[in-house]
Amino acid sequence: MHDYYGIDRTFVLDDADRSIYAMLDGQRADPAAYFTQASVVEPAVAELRQRRRQAAAAEDAPTAIRQYVLLENRPAVVSVAAIVSDTGTIAQPLAKEPAHVAVKFLDGGFLTKLNRDFLIDDARFSWTNGFGRHEAAFPLTSDGGAVGYLVWSVQQPGTKILDQMTPILRLAAAGILLLAGGLLLWIHQTTRRLAASQEQIEYMAHHDMLTGLANRFSFQTQLDERMREFKHTKRGFAVLYLDLDEFKAVNDTLGHQAGDEVIRQVGLRLLALVQEDDMVARLGGDEFAVLRNHVRDRIEIEGLSRGIIETIRTPFKVEHQEVFIGVSIGVAIASTELPMQLDLVRRADVALYRVKNSGRNGYLIFGEWGLDLDRNETYSEASQGLL
Ligand code: GH3
Ligand code: MG
Repeated sequence: MHDYYGIDRTFVLDDADRSIYAMLDGQRADPAAYFTQASVVEPAVAELRQRRRQAAAAEDAPTAIRQYVLLENRPAVVSVAAIVSDTGTIAQPLAKEPAHVAVKFLDGGFLTKLNRDFLIDDARFSWTNGFGRHEAAFPLTSDGGAVGYLVWSVQQPGTKILDQMTPILRLAAAGILLLAGGLLLWIHQTTRRLAASQEQIEYMAHHDMLTGLANRFSFQTQLDERMREFKHTKRGFAVLYLDLDEFKAVNDTLGHQAGDEVIRQVGLRLLALVQEDDMVARLGGDEFAVLRNHVRDRIEIEGLSRGIIETIRTPFKVEHQEVFIGVSIGVAIASTELPMQLDLVRRADVALYRVKNSGRNGYLIFGEWGLDLDRNETYSEASQGLL
């Protein structure tokens, strides 16, 4: 009884309700130990004997009775059972059988076991039924009324699982957020990188990498644009083709890197010289071009050409050395007076070629006035016999 059912106190009473056997907390004890609870247990014993006596037939007689009681100020359940013959072969006068009394306290160890077995956290004994909204109660009721209540907190279905899952769910949500954030960042960065490389490609397509000036493609595009405009407005514009003189010598004496530096500086000087809406381009190698959008007269172009020759003639400082170079310029002016039998670029090219052949370091204008030559000391004789 103690080991299997956890019964705290067991007594056996004889037909006169005298205690003849006692076991307290699993240990045999003096049967006299019964007397301390006799007053609480006796009503139950009397009740059982009474009911058995009143039964119409022996088979109908109840064999046991159970009551909730307060014993030594603790809630307890007391069961009293008549010890009867299973087979009926031992004849016993009805209601005079020995009685088995079992006492089990409903506090302490019992509540611990209840909590563990039924997965509840806080089952407890309460003298009153004033339990809270989220609590349930089981009345320990006998004939004499409830001796108290077993009370525990009610958990909503799934609450326990939810409680256990919450940290995992939070972790998962954080993980998803992190992942989504990472993905967004990656998309953002990739888009930015793509846009940047798109910009770079765009830049490279239109610029010369060494000088940062417009390249031949941009120059040609601008020239076509001017040409279209010119057909409508007839407003003069000019193309100046520049080729550095004997530039190979710079490379040969100072090296390619120094040559690059000179080319870069030439670009800067040209930019510093021209007007805001002029275009300066590097066409490749040591060739540059200046596109002047609005030309008033030939004097203006002569001035520009002389300015370019002057600025290039000024020594360049490269690797602590002074480098002297010259430039030849072929100019073509778009004008209405002269039929455009050659396109502007061809004309500028021809003019440049002539300057190179006539001693370099000068300019020649191929325009409405025909091929002409700057009367400077370097190649005044080159004006003869052209075109
Ligand atoms: P010319 O007076 O007839 O123009 O003679 P040149 O020595 O300047 O030779 P040319 O214009 O025919 O050729 C240009 C030279 O410029 C060829 C090459 O040695 C050099 N060159 C071309 N591109 C570059 C470049 O990007 N960097 C450097 N450092 N040198 C270049
Ligand atoms: Mg050259």
